[in-house]
Amino acid sequence: MKVAKFGGTSCADASQFKKVKSIIMADSERKIAIVSAPGKRFADDHKITDMLYLCHQLMEIGIGGEEVFASIKERFLKIQNDLNLTIDLEPELDEVEQKLIAGTSRDYAASRGEYFSAKLMAAYLDYQFIDAADIIRFDQNGKYDENITRILIKENIKDSCFVIPGFYGAQENGSIITFSRGGSDITGSIVASALSVEKYENWTDVSGFLAADPRIVDNPMPLRIVTYDELRELSYMGAAVLHHEAIFPARQRGIPIHILNTNAPNDPGTLILPRAKRTKSDPILTGVAGVKDFMVINVEKYRMTEDVSFLRKLCSVFETNGIQIHHMPSSIDTVSLIVREESMQGKERKILEEIDIYCSPDRIDITPGLALLAVVGENMAMRAGVSARVFGALADAGINIRMISQGSSEFNIIVGIANDDFEKSVATIYNEFFRENHDDSASH
Ligand code: ASP
Repeated sequence: MKVAKFGGTSCADASQFKKVKSIIMADSERKIAIVSAPGKRFADDHKITDMLYLCHQLMEIGIGGEEVFASIKERFLKIQNDLNLTIDLEPELDEVEQKLIAGTSRDYAASRGEYFSAKLMAAYLDYQFIDAADIIRFDQNGKYDENITRILIKENIKDSCFVIPGFYGAQENGSIITFSRGGSDITGSIVASALSVEKYENWTDVSGFLAADPRIVDNPMPLRIVTYDELRELSYMGAAVLHHEAIFPARQRGIPIHILNTNAPNDPGTLILPRAKRTKSDPILTGVAGVKDFMVINVEKYRMTEDVSFLRKLCSVFETNGIQIHHMPSSIDTVSLIVREESMQGKERKILEEIDIYCSPDRIDITPGLALLAVVGENMAMRAGVSARVFGALADAGINIRMISQGSSEFNIIVGIANDDFEKSVATIYNEFFRENHDDSASH
């Protein structure tokens, strides 16, 4: 059995629904479909989820929410009518509008995109609809509850074909909670894992991952096979095809994830596997990705390493302020904390004061505008000279490296550079490692 998740553009209108149906019908193993809310039909169109967030906000202040809801309703009813479905969503859409007017949670509002999308898809495919609120469980603190979810999925999904809305679940009392944006990918992975299916297909609007961002590099190499670990690094660092949290549930059961294109269903896509057989003749790197707008907080204290509680105290300042530390390179008397700029907004002064009080450093300075680049590939582990090539190529391009970090698993080198050097750095690394190897792409 396969779980097939269809993203927002795959559910954008009736013509996309038709493509989904022909994909589902082409393989009788595709018994479970997870759907996103309708996404953009054309470049400056609006995603239903964005409209629902806006609608909720406007309803709260009591201005213009009804108009936005009317456009949302129109889009769903258009799909229903264009597909000549016998169900009628109108009464339920009206009920939701009344709830929004009366005041509901932001998560409830956002979840209705997936809910109605799944209702339409179930009717169109003649599959059973099952509400994610009944099978994806969050605990009282709003944290996803894996154990109960697993039981609920196994109890409820048996011997039939189902459509499930992605992106949300519910607490025991029925309150709806959503995952973060793009979270239908996570729902698909959770369902695939709970049912131990043969494959989790993730149908989107591109034919898989590329070795670099096509907005920066011309015609980058498509990736046929990547490992969970490589993908986790690449998607965490900006390669946006799959939600980076969607990897965990599938990985637990070793379920392959196949990224495929609804608009070009015969393209091979990218297969994500626990391990990939790579030989010395395969490309050294799998890909290069990155994210801008980090900030470095440099803390200096003479004989820092002799104070065994120093790092704990420093980290707890960030912990109590709810700030995630992404990297922490250190030397004898200095440690640099790398955090996202936006996470520090409005908290900078408080954090500096607290570091001063708890850690009594000799010096603290902050440098914004750092971009991080992840140079990723399991084939580079145990191989000498890869980092020399990375740093050599960047040096030849006149790019100053501000930070370096390599994990002990050796499949990932993180390089910190100025935001302004970001695009040039991605292109430089890509050219260094991929241009001459371009013909190897088929074996990759
Ligand atoms: N519709 C949600 C979003 O736009 C979730 C998803 O599509 O995966 O973020």
